[in-house]
Amino acid sequence: MHNRWRTHHCGTLRSQDVGQPVILNGWVAQHRNHGGVIFINLRDRSGNVQALIEQDASTALQRRGEALKLESCVALVGKVRRRPDQMINTSMPTGEIEIKIEELELLAECQPLPFSISNDSEAREELRQHYRFLDLRRPKMQRNLEMRHRVVGAIRQFLHQQSFYEIETPTLIRSTPEGARDLLVPSRQQPGHFFALPQSPQIYKQLLMTAGFERYFQIARCYRDEDARGDRQLEHSQIDIEMSFVDSAAIFKLVEQLLYHVFLTARQEQLSLPLPQLRYDEALLYYGSDKPDIRYEGQIVDCGTWAANSTLHIFQKALKSNGSVRALRLPPCQLSRRELTELEEQARASGAAGLAWCQVQEEGLRGGIGSHLQPQWKEIKAQLGVSAGDMLLFVADSTPIVCRTLDSLRRSLIARQKLPLKNEYQKGFSKEFGWVWITDFPLFEWNSELQQWEAAHHLFSMPHHRYHAHLEQRPGEVRGEIYDLVCNGVELASGSIRIHQAELQRRVLAIVGIHEREAERRFGALLRALQYGTPPHGGIAPGLDRLLMLLQGEPSIREVIAFPKNSLGANLLDDSPSAVDLAQLADLGIALRNNNHE
Ligand code: ASP
Repeated sequence: MHNRWRTHHCGTLRSQDVGQPVILNGWVAQHRNHGGVIFINLRDRSGNVQALIEQDASTALQRRGEALKLESCVALVGKVRRRPDQMINTSMPTGEIEIKIEELELLAECQPLPFSISNDSEAREELRQHYRFLDLRRPKMQRNLEMRHRVVGAIRQFLHQQSFYEIETPTLIRSTPEGARDLLVPSRQQPGHFFALPQSPQIYKQLLMTAGFERYFQIARCYRDEDARGDRQLEHSQIDIEMSFVDSAAIFKLVEQLLYHVFLTARQEQLSLPLPQLRYDEALLYYGSDKPDIRYEGQIVDCGTWAANSTLHIFQKALKSNGSVRALRLPPCQLSRRELTELEEQARASGAAGLAWCQVQEEGLRGGIGSHLQPQWKEIKAQLGVSAGDMLLFVADSTPIVCRTLDSLRRSLIARQKLPLKNEYQKGFSKEFGWVWITDFPLFEWNSELQQWEAAHHLFSMPHHRYHAHLEQRPGEVRGEIYDLVCNGVELASGSIRIHQAELQRRVLAIVGIHEREAERRFGALLRALQYGTPPHGGIAPGLDRLLMLLQGEPSIREVIAFPKNSLGANLLDDSPSAVDLAQLADLGIALRNNNHE
């Protein structure tokens, strides 16, 4: 073939191109011989086109055409022509035309395929990962990664316009705690010393604020040694953002506009702004969760006031020991006995002693514990705003168990399609996305195993001013300028306004048991910077992979990452992690225990 490089892309040819001579490069997506005519569906990144070798072709060309294997890489020379009317395929963008092949060159042959290259291919996860380069040829994966590319482009474009500097921070660092285990990298030059891969560039981005850059962002790779799940990986990408001289409202506005820009570019859809907000305490009360799926009905109601007067021992007991009695109010829906039993088992699995229920009727309560609650009927009706047909699912226990249980029941009812969408999510685009800012998170959490306070987010978040005077007295009550952005029950971003005074930072560290010397050792750079005019600042880090997962409606972030790890944190494509030479370990001053080196 004289010139074999493409003049056109397969998926872009249309009836206007009829008569055009073309050279195409791509892969054989389908191949069949139909009464002596060889049909080749050729695919490149832009899409597919039908090409054919007719009976009048030279024998050599026909032989070459017949011998083609699926997914082989070829170049072809031909002419675009209109398909006969009865052959027009309206479900294909190039369906009005076809290419009459004049020359064909095999650029690289493909071995028999381990699975079919189609969206509905049911290959096992391990096989897909082993042959990820083939898996990525599937149209869906091509679309997902194209979308990723477009979204990253849109993010960069928007943030550049908003005067953000894109600055890279190192990936070999001293460990920055974000609540997960670090991935460690041994140092050869200083045996016995380790770098950590960043769980996030948290301290660096704060130092960039001290350095006067005012607006920073980076598409940052973050590493957390956690068990991989549907929406978690050992490494993930964050849109890491930090700004000086702002309050949380300004950060919300920036992120909302960024999302608006992304949705417009990626899906040609307009987000309706501003996004709703809920305080952390409200989210726990109404949904039992700080990541509520707010699209659905089924709100939780506190029954404390009237439950105290009820004769039910279990209610009394929970309230006396400072716990709660709360109910999930379900709009009319049919739950079978079996479903109720399953929900009860689920409640037990969440740690609750059990699950009580009753059904609301015109004049009272029926079923389950209905008759026991009849004396409180008027109060229940007035306070819970229930109407006939509603169902109430009660949990009485310590407040954290009540929240956890009701959240898990609510999620399971959503999955069973027992909760209707709220009116505002019923039509159009907004139906798919239930955004909500969760604000004012607690600063500290009690770790009962270690018997000490821990940072609920990370150690650098600003407590609300009203708590500054007595942080140490009741750490559990302190609420901070900490926020998450949640969509459809998934945490999409998390951030905070940061502490910018050394003294306050030291006090927060001391509450979680990190005192002077250790504070210096672990956070010396930050504490030093806080003494040199660090501006008030704050930031946020939306997860890029999770954003794409939502945009593409994918159930797992593995579908939007080119080369992900599997659920055991391994990559079967390159077989990593892998053993290394003993000599390499010796260089690093590392010896393995238990001879588990292979
Ligand atoms: N570094 C935080 C995280 O990774 C986000 C932030 O506070 O900006 O969750």
